Amino acid sequence: MEQAVILAGARVATSATRTSRLDLLVRQGQVFFSRHEISPEGEIDLSGFLILPGLINAHDHLELNLFPRLGRGPYPNATAWADDIYRPDEAPVKQHLGVPKRVRLFWGGMKNLLSGVTTVAQHNPYHPDVFDEGFPIRVVKHYSWAHSLRFSNDWQYRYRQRPAGAPFIIHAAEGLDEDARREIYQLDAASALGRSTVVVHGVALRREELMLVRKRGASLIWCPSSNDFTLGRTLSEAAFSSGVPIALGTDSALTAEGDLTDELRRASQVIDPVRLYGMVTSGAARVLCLGSAAGCIRNGGAADLLVVPDRGQAPAEALLDLRPQLVIVNGHIDLISETITERMRAASFSAYQVIEVEDRGRWLTPFNISGLIDQARQALDGDLRLAGKAVIS
Ligand SMILES: [Zn+2]
Repeated sequence: MEQAVILAGARVATSATRTSRLDLLVRQGQVFFSRHEISPEGEIDLSGFLILPGLINAHDHLELNLFPRLGRGPYPNATAWADDIYRPDEAPVKQHLGVPKRVRLFWGGMKNLLSGVTTVAQHNPYHPDVFDEGFPIRVVKHYSWAHSLRFSNDWQYRYRQRPAGAPFIIHAAEGLDEDARREIYQLDAASALGRSTVVVHGVALRREELMLVRKRGASLIWCPSSNDFTLGRTLSEAAFSSGVPIALGTDSALTAEGDLTDELRRASQVIDPVRLYGMVTSGAARVLCLGSAAGCIRNGGAADLLVVPDRGQAPAEALLDLRPQLVIVNGHIDLISETITERMRAASFSAYQVIEVEDRGRWLTPFNISGLIDQARQALDGDLRLAGKAVIS
């Protein structure tokens, strides 16, 4: 979508609970609350649809999303899980590592796109050659990270070297035992628990550690289905009432149930939809230091949009039964259902390819899906699953 287009007739989310009937102009990667004059072919009739901000997945390991879940938990902590599953020379890890990393990263991007994610935080190095251009979604670029206290000897150095205004993201307190809990005190003793610190998991934290995290101004990322699988439980009620900012993440297919759609459903068993909405939109943007214009639809803001059927629901309620019909990333149509292509007769999607995934749906997308399928299936003896679900075409 290089030309300007008008998204006409939809309800547009202005917060978790409010919508407004607005026509949106999308032009050069930005969205505007005004029609301007453009040719009629540039107008898409989206009556009957609801437009949400593109979602933010605060934690993923993009290259690990073709893997099956590995491990037989629950384990006392993440180290025990990692020690148990680390078999790089055996099936299925060996076959999966045989899929080129660039291809695996791309599939991780597709997993996110299919659940309406337009921005993901990758917990591993940033690959500019893959992420900077032609990737399905935005990958947070301004960040520092360490895997964990156990597996990153240089975590203190990495914290000190974080760029100004960037988050420092680390797996910590991922367990139920004293070893896991102690990590928060180790971070604090090294003066590495501060406003930019983002603790992924934090399941071990009791009220007193949560108070410390809050006092230091640090944040949490919550990955409930991953925690269920590895530890047999997730964050306690104390975490949700602690005042610590929390964003939602999927983690990878190695431990998660599936994609962000699954994670939202799991999270909704614990917290209300309005709070959940913040955890994948503006609240997640704050945790990841993405700026106040991220995670919301704002006049002049980025054109990162998710379109779903309008059933009269509040924006927050739409997250509980997420069926993306159209996903626009930086002004480009990266995912579109056949229902919506039929409303765009003037536009040609001949260069788009079909992607169909079990239990998720069928869409058109501008990416080279057939090539990605071929490259992955070669190494995997034909059994291609994206976050546990069969890739059909
Ligand atoms: Zn992780």
